[in-house]
Order: sequence, then C-alpha cells, then structure tokens
Amino acid sequence: MLVPELPAEIRELKAKVRQFLEDEVYPLELRIAQRGSIDVAEVDVMRKKARAAGFAMLNMPPDQGGIGLSMVGQVALEEESGKATNGLGFAVVDRGPRELLEITTPDQAKRYVAPIVRGEYREAWALTEPGAGSDLAGLQATATRAGDDWLLNGEKWFVTSEGSPGVYIVAAMHEGEQLLFLVDPDSPGLEIVRTPSFLHDPYLDHHPEIVFTDCRVPEANRIPATGDAGAKEWILVERLFIAARCCGAAERLLDLATDWAKEREQFGAPIAEYQGISFPLADSLTELLAARLLTYHAAHAFDTLADRKIVHGKVSMAKLFASEMAGRVADRALQAFGGRGYMLENPTARFYRELRVDRIWEGTSEIQRLVIARGLLKRGAAPYLGWE
Ligand SMILES: Cc1cc2nc3c(=O)[nH]c(=O)nc-3n(C[C@H](O)[C@H](O)[C@H](O)COP(=O)(O)OP(=O)(O)OC[C@H]3O[C@@H](n4cnc5c(N)ncnc54)[C@H](O)[C@@H]3O)c2cc1C
Repeated sequence: MLVPELPAEIRELKAKVRQFLEDEVYPLELRIAQRGSIDVAEVDVMRKKARAAGFAMLNMPPDQGGIGLSMVGQVALEEESGKATNGLGFAVVDRGPRELLEITTPDQAKRYVAPIVRGEYREAWALTEPGAGSDLAGLQATATRAGDDWLLNGEKWFVTSEGSPGVYIVAAMHEGEQLLFLVDPDSPGLEIVRTPSFLHDPYLDHHPEIVFTDCRVPEANRIPATGDAGAKEWILVERLFIAARCCGAAERLLDLATDWAKEREQFGAPIAEYQGISFPLADSLTELLAARLLTYHAAHAFDTLADRKIVHGKVSMAKLFASEMAGRVADRALQAFGGRGYMLENPTARFYRELRVDRIWEGTSEIQRLVIARGLLKRGAAPYLGWE
C-alpha cells in the first residue's frame, strides 16, 4: 500500500484539532500580531485546554500516558497543528518524548521523561555547535571522565526550547565517540550566553546559545545509546513532522488565498477570473496534494517498513519536497493578496516568514538531497519507489 486510508477515529481527532485551532488559536494569533509579542500566560491557558481536549502525548505508549498512536496518525494531527502560526501548534498537539524514552534507562525515564509526559516541562536537544551544523560528525564539545561524573565543555547553538526547558539532551565527544547526556538546566557550568532574535519571531520557541564550562553531569545521566544512533530517530521523526506541518500550512494558505481571490474585485471582476491569479493557485493545490501523498507515504513506511535506511530516504524526500512546496505556496498566496498579504495581521505574511526555517532545521534541503542521492546511488531507485 502506498498511502493508507486514515482510520475513522483519526479523522475524528483530526477534525477536533482543526476546530480547536479555529476557536482558540486563530484569535490568539491575531492578538499576538496586534501586540507584536506572545503573552506566555495566555498560551498556557490555551495549552491546558488542548491537553484537556486530549491532543497531548498521544504518541506515547499506554503505560506512559499515551495511546501509542501510529506515525500516520501522528502525521495527520501534526498536519493540523501546522496551520497555526507563531509556533502555537506545538502547544496544541503536544507530542511526547517517545524517542527519548526509547534511548533512556528506566531510571532516567522516571526522572526526566515522566515529568514531560505530566506536562511539567519540555526537553531541549543540544546538538548543533558554531562549527558543526550540517556535519554533526564534527562536534567539538567534549565529555571527560571525572571520577563518577563527567565534565562537559563546549558551545551549543540554536537550542530550541519553549521558555526554560526541564532538561537538555547534550551531545559531546569522548574518545572519538558521540555521547548523549541529560543535563539539568541549573547545573553549575551551564550558561545561556545569548538568545538571538529570529525571522519567525514572535515565536513560541526560543533558540539560545549555551556554553558548558566544566559542567558536571553524573554517570547516571549518560544515555546508554551513543549520540549518532540516539539522536537519529529524533531527527527522523522531526523531519517527518516538518513535512506534515508544511502541508497543513499550505492548506490554510491556499484556502485563504482562494477565498480572497473570489471576493476581491479589480477592473470590474473578481481577481480569481484572471489566470495570473488562478493558475498559481492551481499549481499550489497540485503541489500540495503531491507533498501530502509523499508525507503520508513516508509515515506509512515508518510504521511498516523494517529497512530503516529506506524509511530515512523517504522521510528526507517528504521533508525536502513539502518544505520547498510550502515556501512556493506562501509566496503565491501573498501575491494573490497584494498589499494585504504583506500585513502581519494576515496569516499569509506570517507564514511567508515562518516557513523559511523548514528548509533549514533538522537538515537543510541540501542535506536531504545528500541523503536521497546517497541512497539512490547505493541501492538504486526501486526500493524507494516500490509497493510494500
Ligand atoms: C530556528 C532554528 C532552530 C533550531 N533548533 C535546533 C535544536 O533544537 N537543536 C539543534 O541541535 N539544532 C537546532 N538547529 C540547528 C539546525 O539543525 C542547523 O541550523 C542546520 O542543521 C544547518 O546547520 P548550520 O546552520 O550550521 O548550516 P551549515 O551546516 O553551516 O550549512 C550552511 C549551508 O551550506 C550547505 N551545506 C552544508 N554542507 C553541505 C553539503 N555537503 N553539500 C551541499 N550543501 C551543504 C547547507 O545546506 C547550508 O545551505 C536549529 C536551527 C534553527 C535555524
């Protein structure tokens, strides 16, 4: 099966998330646009309502407060969350730290994963460094043994976190191997040195730069999986979710632009009657459907395919195509709105800025092409195209 049907219960849940966005999130977005900043307390109220509505932690196994939702199901919900701007979708469909659970010891899971599931705090992954972005093999941060503890030294950039995270997952080198550590934010030697502004601000997440100077971490906080394998699954899932959110964003953009094109009249006719407006919208719908099929196809492969290398290739294709598609759709939608599309109170203007990062984070478009090309050259096209 190339693309599965969505089960009725997932369709129902998806419709509920969509309704929640319309009732709770879109009015909140507008207030943020008018104020120019995010009111954290207001977002917290919205997040609690979303949690009460049952949208959080669904990917976690039942004994961890979730329902073990399939990747196809998760993608369906993530798609809806992508319709929100300002990163608010992250607070609506609050996905649990499943990949962290899978690589931590039972004791670590109890201390660090359980509080996230209970909604007490979030985790933040600190992999990227000033000198190592696309090429994470070039990490410079070090972990040195000091009795029963480890000392971390180095600098991490773009550490995405909403407010103050409860735990950092930090990658550092030890004797040529990447290790991962669970680091408490108040550990001596951990310092947030800068919180730069980004093109998508005001945004729910911040992306500070953190310096570690002889930051002491107990051996009990070293994750058993080594860095590369440990972080790989997290990166894979994040890539798929970026693709899903891009599809959701593009759908909202297309709906907004289509409605506007039918309503706005110039030269005595709705602008939708001019092919200069309707053809780009037709291109957007076509590309959105293609991206959507590819994203659900990759999610289905994630759920069913044993060969993870093929799954990685398909997820990279989905992330590459969907993020580039969303950029084009936003650009065309903005053009259809004319000057009104350039006003930040219009979601189109906000998406135009915010979607740009989807071609960068969790591996740039070039890195996705690298993954796809390597797979193609090694295995040929057939395993990536086949029916499973
Ligand atoms: C808003 C934001 C949030 C982020 N959140 C996190 C986070 O939570 N945790 C974390 O660890 N990281 C995070 N990142 C980091 C992100 O994953 C990196 O920015 C990304 O992987 C690219 O690395 P870089 O910025 O160092 O660019 P570089 O690696 O320096 O790349 C610069 C340019 O060179 C190109 N390039 C590099 N190598 C090749 C190649 N072999 N072939 C062709 N082109 C190439 C790239 O595609 C890019 O266009 C975040 C980044 C941003 C912007």
